[in-house]
Amino acid sequence: MKLSQRVQHLKPSATINIAAKAKQMVANGEHLISFGVGEPDFPTPPHVIDACIEALQSGKTTYTAAGGIRELKEAITRKFDRENGLTYSPDQITIGMGAKHMLYTLFQAILDPGDELIVLEPYWVSYPEMIKLAGGVPVIISCREENQFRISINDLRHAITPKTKGIILNSPHNPTGVVYRKDELASIAKLCLENNMLIISDEIYEHFVYGTKHISIASLSEDVKKHTIIINGLSKSHAMTGWRLGYAAGDAQIIKAMGDLTGQSVSNAVTFVQYAAIAALDGDQNALKHVVAEYEARRCYMLERLGEFPGVSAVTPTGAFYIYLNVRELMGKLGYQDVAAFSEALLQEAKVVVIPGTAFGTADHIRLSYATSMQNIEEGLNRLHQFIQRSTVAHEKN
Ligand code: PMP
Ligand code: GLU
Repeated sequence: MKLSQRVQHLKPSATINIAAKAKQMVANGEHLISFGVGEPDFPTPPHVIDACIEALQSGKTTYTAAGGIRELKEAITRKFDRENGLTYSPDQITIGMGAKHMLYTLFQAILDPGDELIVLEPYWVSYPEMIKLAGGVPVIISCREENQFRISINDLRHAITPKTKGIILNSPHNPTGVVYRKDELASIAKLCLENNMLIISDEIYEHFVYGTKHISIASLSEDVKKHTIIINGLSKSHAMTGWRLGYAAGDAQIIKAMGDLTGQSVSNAVTFVQYAAIAALDGDQNALKHVVAEYEARRCYMLERLGEFPGVSAVTPTGAFYIYLNVRELMGKLGYQDVAAFSEALLQEAKVVVIPGTAFGTADHIRLSYATSMQNIEEGLNRLHQFIQRSTVAHEKN
């Protein structure tokens, strides 16, 4: 059977695939240290699990409305009010199977063949592929490292064409850890409004900020809010990656279309998970404070240790839980041609998992996730250091 053109051109998700490969190697008895997939290493809070069990036991096991249950939509509106100073009505909220599904559905809802969406590089792996699956064209703007991986408004201005439908922003950012300031968001928003563009704001890492504040671009003004669709979910904030619960907020017409698409694809987000999500959003958020403090300590430790490694550098991340490490000089010294080969050598020889930057559109970097225990981080960095020393000696001998 000949596969569709769409699928023939589809690049599988590097983050998901590398995570699966690492899990398989562990199952085969390898002792790996993973800086790979971005997945909180803390358990889902117990009160959320209790709420899920209660929902199951009380028969919350049938279909719901496609866009989700009213009670959860209301809990999400309370979250926006409390945490982002944003007022939404339930008909401006839709619920699906993870932020990823919400992005996928949004692109299906707004893109016609040839429509352009601006994507900032480095970008999260799935944006360009999902845009292409919807028939759209990802227009990639490079956010240069010299500019601390921040957008240049001039580059943005030049990328806008009559076909531009919108832009995807992701702050705090995966993989660079960049968190946009209010003045930067205001400049982006101004240009978007002038060009009648939709702002897609992926805020999945909003709580993971260190010494800085997350600002939702939608909170800048009522006008900006009208042009913004916020994408968020519980995967990171409540350590619920496997539960698959995401949501979107914004223009009621787009939100309704997204719900209709959910209805014709997966029907609805898992019913008892929706009930558990109410407990997650309405319940005590203290666990998160503890998690963020722990990530902050790991981030500091990693930056300090990596600062002593030869031939590597990183733009200091102030958000998310990744370090985007530039290894160009190191690869040159050790004789590696590309980050894919370098990452594979790290896996095979040092038993350390990283994601090659090519997954995010850049050739000189590896992404290290610090969503893993301090003990693993210490061991992983020791291995990385030894790998560099061994390879340097071996390369000099040749
Ligand atoms: N956006 C970004 C930037 C991400 O890193 C991820 C990965 N968790 C997602 C969206 C999707 O998250 P999920 O589908 O697990 O809610
Ligand atoms: N977003 C996480 C990452 O970038 C999880 C994997 C995925 O959804 O791609 O590693």
